[in-house]
Amino acid sequence: MIKLRNKNLRNAGVELQSGLSFEKNGVSVQARVIDEIIAVKKACNCRISVSAGLNGNHAVGPCSHATGYKADMNWSASPDLTKFVASNFKYIGLRGDGARRYQNDKSAAIWNLEPTSSTANHWDMEIKC
Ligand SMILES: [Zn+2]
Repeated sequence: MIKLRNKNLRNAGVELQSGLSFEKNGVSVQARVIDEIIAVKKACNCRISVSAGLNGNHAVGPCSHATGYKADMNWSASPDLTKFVASNFKYIGLRGDGARRYQNDKSAAIWNLEPTSSTANHWDMEIKC
């Protein structure tokens, strides 16, 4: 299943960074996470580089990386992705950490533009939970 998801992403032209994990401790990333990335890749036709699914250290919660509802995509590598999200999705305000939040009307997924720091230079995307 997970290999198939990686294959589907690669076939769509999405880059998968080393260390990326969509399965950990018996938890799998939700298929809708993969669907959202592929749909945006097709609509945007821009570079998308996925850095995190279940791997890495993240905030915990019922709808988090740890439960398979999120994926991170590098934004510094793809200004076109940032332009696409900002111009096609609805701006819904700032998150507590200052991340700009955009919502995809079609899927209800939320794309959080994490502020620049040494550790966060990515879109933190969460599917509807
Ligand atoms: Zn994240």
